[in-house]
Amino acid sequence: MPEPLQQLHKSHQRLARQLAHIGPVLKGSVVKRFMPCGKPNCRCQADPPQLHGPYWQWSTAVNGKTLTRRLAPEHVPLYLEWIDNRKRLEALLAKMYHLSQQATADQASKASKTASAR
Ligand SMILES: [Zn+2]
Repeated sequence: MPEPLQQLHKSHQRLARQLAHIGPVLKGSVVKRFMPCGKPNCRCQADPPQLHGPYWQWSTAVNGKTLTRRLAPEHVPLYLEWIDNRKRLEALLAKMYHLSQQATADQASKASKTASAR
């Protein structure tokens, strides 16, 4: 294997090893909400209003529509971790794309140099 490709291979394997340690991945985001309940004379209708909560929600886009789910507080850390895993996964993928693209660019410039030398 030519030297630059060996380098690419090594760098790729380093990224692939990191990839192997990423746990479950989840799209979307977690938000904390305070809300009124709608009951008359409740503290949430007072001035100033004392809203209920916090409530935790996870939202994601599915086929162009927003899907929202209420989360139990004890599930929040797990969702945050999985969402963070997805960000790490995508950062690693971006590095992999960049690496391979760099390799093809190097090859292309070599090929054009060889062609012009003829
Ligand atoms: Zn209320």
